[in-house]
Amino acid sequence: MPRQPRPVFRFAPSPNGHLHLGHALSALLNFEAARATGGRFLLRIEDIDTVRCTPELEADLYEDLAWLGISWEQPVRRQSEHFADYRAALDRLRAAGLVYEAFLTRGEIRRVVADRESGGLIWPRDPDGAPLYPGDAALLSPADIDARARAGVPFALRLRMAKALACLAAPLTWREEGAGPAGETGTVAADPAAWGDVVLARKETPTSYHLSVVVDDALQDVTHVVRGRDLFHATSVHRLLQVLLGLPEPVYRHHRLILGGDGRKLSKSERHTALCDLRAEGATPADIRRLVGLGA
Ligand code: GLU
Repeated sequence: MPRQPRPVFRFAPSPNGHLHLGHALSALLNFEAARATGGRFLLRIEDIDTVRCTPELEADLYEDLAWLGISWEQPVRRQSEHFADYRAALDRLRAAGLVYEAFLTRGEIRRVVADRESGGLIWPRDPDGAPLYPGDAALLSPADIDARARAGVPFALRLRMAKALACLAAPLTWREEGAGPAGETGTVAADPAAWGDVVLARKETPTSYHLSVVVDDALQDVTHVVRGRDLFHATSVHRLLQVLLGLPEPVYRHHRLILGGDGRKLSKSERHTALCDLRAEGATPADIRRLVGLGA
């Protein structure tokens, strides 16, 4: 009998703000699932945004997690130290003709969308509410695009979604052990087209969240992705990139979110739910467990 591989869980925060109760829930669920299954628990620092992520916030994050009673394997993978890995994945997609240089600025995208919508059309939005990329040709002539390229104007790299979908040999699905916002569970049909031509590398960052998360989950042999339901729809893009790059498919478990008093998802700017503030006010790790609905 082949030995069953040990499950691998990970908690992957971005040190661009203090950890809040929502992070505590995610970290505890991952840590405890690893314990319960004899699996491994990894901590990954998602700091590709080297401007907003700081060493101080990263240090605070380690302190908060240790205070909660969580321990993790060393060394910790910090994404900012692995841009070459993401570049290599991007190069493979580029070589397959699945990537293009996108020159429109945010302001220009807004202008195109406003223009189209003033004509009565409803421009499609992605699951996060951002308008889908209209394509450079919506505003720029081939000569304009060429001129921007020659002048060294910064560009993002985007996935040719239609071409990528045409590469799929079978319907794209994933195994959901948690639930999506509409209760989706079990075998879920992925819908990457809902995101349009997603960004794979930003003007100021040589990668993107979507690309680095799938590359790292594969490189770190992650078998179970346990994360907040706000990332449920992003899984469609992750599954597509996994297939395009020939990467293994983890199981997904999207968990409930901790909502603020206004019923909205907690944000890192909501100070009263930051773990460091709650700790300073005298909360104990057991209080945090209760606050996130995990019991003592
Ligand atoms: N870094 C992401 C965040 O802090 C989480 C990524 C993931 O779990 O896939 O929201």
